[in-house]
This record gives sequence, structure tokens and C-alpha cells, in this order.
Amino acid sequence: MGKRVLLFPLPFQGHINPMLEVAALLHSRGFSITIFHTSYNSIDSTKYPLYRFILVEDGGISGRFRSVVGDAMQRITAWNNNCEQLFYDCLTSVLSEKNEEPIACLIRDTHWYNLQYLANKLGVPTLVLRTGSTATLNWYMTFPQLIQKGFIPVQESQLNMPIIELAPLRMRDLPCLPDCSHEVLRDLFTHAIDAIRASSGVIVNTFDAIDSTEVENFQKEIPIPVFCIGPLHKFTPPARSSLLDPDRSCLDWLDMQSAGSVLYVSFGSLACMNFEELIETAWGLANSDQPFIWVVRPGSVLGKDKVDLPDGFIEATSGRGKIVSWAPQQEVLAHAAIGAFWTHNGWNSTIEAICEGVPMICRPQFADQMGNARYVMHAWKVGIELEGKLERGNIEMAIKRLMREDEGAEIRQRMRAMKHEASLSIKSDGSSSINIDKLISFISSFKIL
Ligand code: UDP
Repeated sequence: MGKRVLLFPLPFQGHINPMLEVAALLHSRGFSITIFHTSYNSIDSTKYPLYRFILVEDGGISGRFRSVVGDAMQRITAWNNNCEQLFYDCLTSVLSEKNEEPIACLIRDTHWYNLQYLANKLGVPTLVLRTGSTATLNWYMTFPQLIQKGFIPVQESQLNMPIIELAPLRMRDLPCLPDCSHEVLRDLFTHAIDAIRASSGVIVNTFDAIDSTEVENFQKEIPIPVFCIGPLHKFTPPARSSLLDPDRSCLDWLDMQSAGSVLYVSFGSLACMNFEELIETAWGLANSDQPFIWVVRPGSVLGKDKVDLPDGFIEATSGRGKIVSWAPQQEVLAHAAIGAFWTHNGWNSTIEAICEGVPMICRPQFADQMGNARYVMHAWKVGIELEGKLERGNIEMAIKRLMREDEGAEIRQRMRAMKHEASLSIKSDGSSSINIDKLISFISSFKIL
């Protein structure tokens, strides 16, 4: 009889994708898969006929994602509180099933922190999936200390101050969220870290060549196993976990463009802009004279359900601009016509760009994006920053710097080397493949329930 692994992603796109990639990986190694999901951003189970899905009704917090809505943190706290009893009931019911395969472990998202204690109470070994980098966990640990030392809230004059223990971060690169106080963030990070301490180990969507120092630093504080098994999407078939339907026509459009000529513009599943920024972005792209694909997600302009592009923009970019409401991003980035990625530096987007050797224009907005961008620009030097007010002149200049000037050529060269590192990690003797084998042995060593 085989073994079952239970998985519970946090219901945001950037958390669902990597969790389903872990599911696919474990399924390919003979484990049966049971996925818990919430009615908010519920997963389309028909796309995964080989898995079992269990809906954890989340106390009325249903809906579909549209934007970061300023209250993402409150949502996470509410989910943790509202789902506690509901998840407990689901878990006890699954554990009591007599005719099903035995359970090896639970893999939960970092931010499902309350569930850790329930799983411990029921004796279910639990691993944490960190969908961001390992470095983010070190930021979480240090954040409360920086508050205690009086560095947070950050003074204007200290924004560029380096944080020695979190190099290469400066104060301005620390995680933050719109409309979210540093106390709320501190509590969230503290909950996340405390629950990790109570877990059996951490799985991270990263690879040793870019994150091993951060893993060492993490393990000095929390000596539990860490499995860097990314880039996860390179171990699994193309993702089917998009919450929006990807517009695949952009792949045909890319086939008609010359190699390395197209700028891909996407800010992930949650980041938003105001209407003025939308207009500046449109004219910046138009004035750059560079072919582009621009993902304009429904709801991505604050206060507008329907996004209206400025008059004359479609005509001005006809033949070299492609607008989609959602792209098959991993395939787009892997296309030979793509030459650069203007990104918000969500971790998934960042690692997907690295895998395909696509240099980045970084425009981070919130959460871990500023820190990720700092690594991209200053540790790995594979991107440039789009600084200051979002304004058409700055945008045009950044695109030209990266895609046409010598500086861009050097960045592309470094990016090719990084892509090579990523490709080595997934070879059969590469670090991530070895770590996957270790993870499988680790999971198999748990006493089955
Ligand atoms: N994504 C996609 N199509 C799009 C935009 C994003 O498939 O048009 C995917 C992208 O490949 C990534 C995820 O959505 O896997 C976004 O995660 P990320 O961590 O980059 O950003 P977040 O949405 O969490 O801010």
C-alpha cells in the first residue's frame, strides 16, 4: 500500500502554484495526494483528476483574488483563526479513514501557522513550504529585533542604511505592506517563525547556488532540515493552477517576433497601480519602440473594475504590442523572443526569470518584493531598478538601458551564467535533485498514521 501526503496551500496564486508543483513532484514519486483548499481562491479540482481535494470552508471568507487590497495580512490572520476548528475537523476525519492509504505527513504553507499546532496535537508530522526565498525567513526573524532596537519604523534618513546581518538588504528593502502597521507585520512574522520551530522541516522553492548562505544563517537559529528543491516548475509539467485563464495567443504572437526582442511586463497576481501610473506605463512602453507583452489583469488598476487603456495607445503600438489579461508566464519567459522582464519581483516571477536567463527591470511594491529585487540588482546583478515616480520618461529609459545598451549586454551575460547554475541544479546529480531524494527519504522515514 502506498502513502498519502496532505498539502495545504495558502490561497494566493504565488502560494498555490509552488504547492501544486510539490504535489506533482511527490505524486511522480508514488505518493497519493490530498489537497486541502479554501473557498477563497478555491482550486479547480477537475484539472487534477488524480488528486483528492477537501474543501475547508473558511468561515465565510470566500471570493476570488483581485488585488493586494491592503488587508492581505488581516486575511491571513482571519484565515488562521477561522479555519482552525474547520481544519481540525477535516484532519481528524481524514486520519480516521480506515480504507484509505496511510498518511505520511502534512505539508503546509508558512503562513498557515496555527495549523502547525493542530497537526502536532494530532501527531501528524508537518513540513513547511516556503514559497519565497530562504532569505525571507531570516528577514522575518530579524524584523522584531529591529523594532526592539528602534530601527523600525524606518526613519527617512536611515532608508539606505545597510542591515549587516541581512546583507545585501538595506532598511528600505525590508518587507512592508500598504496599510499595514509594523506591529501587525511583526506579529505575523513571529507567528510564522514560531510555527516553523515547531515543524519537522522546511521545503523551499530555491536552489543551493543562490540561497545556501541564507540556509546556513537560518539553521544557526532554527536547526531543522531545509530542502532547497527549486526551481520547482522545472521538475513538473506546466502549471494548471492559474486562477485566471491564461491567454495562449501571446505564444503564437511571440513566434512572429525576433529573438530576444520582446519585453514581458507583468506584476503578478496582486500588485496594483493607479490610473495615472497605468497611463505612464502605456506611454513609456509605446515610446520605447520595443515590442512587448503586457499583462493587464482585471482589477489591477485601483478603483476600476474594467481597465481602459489610454486613447491612441493601441494604434501607436499596433504590430509590436500585445495586451493580455493573464499570460502563461512560465512558457512566455521560456520563449526565445523574450529579451527582458519588467517585474514586481514576486519570488515565483523572479525564479522563473532566472531559470530562463531573462534579465529584469525591477519595480517592487510590497512584501518580500523589495528584498528580492535587492538580490537581483545587487547580489546577482541581473537586473536594473526602475526608480522613483512611475513616469513615461523613466520607463522608456530603463527599457533602453536594459535592452539596447552595453550595460544590458553585461547583465544578460551574468543572467546566462545564472540560468546555467539553475539548469545544473535540476540535473540528476544537481543539488535540487539530490535534495528531492533526501526529502523523499525524510518523508518516508516518518512513522505512518
Ligand atoms: N503568473 C502567470 N500569468 C501572469 C502573471 C503571473 O501565470 O500573467 C504566475 C507567475 O508565473 C507566478 C505567479 O503567477 O508563478 C505569481 O507569483 P509571484 O510570486 O511572482 O507574485 P505574486 O502574484 O505572489 O505577487
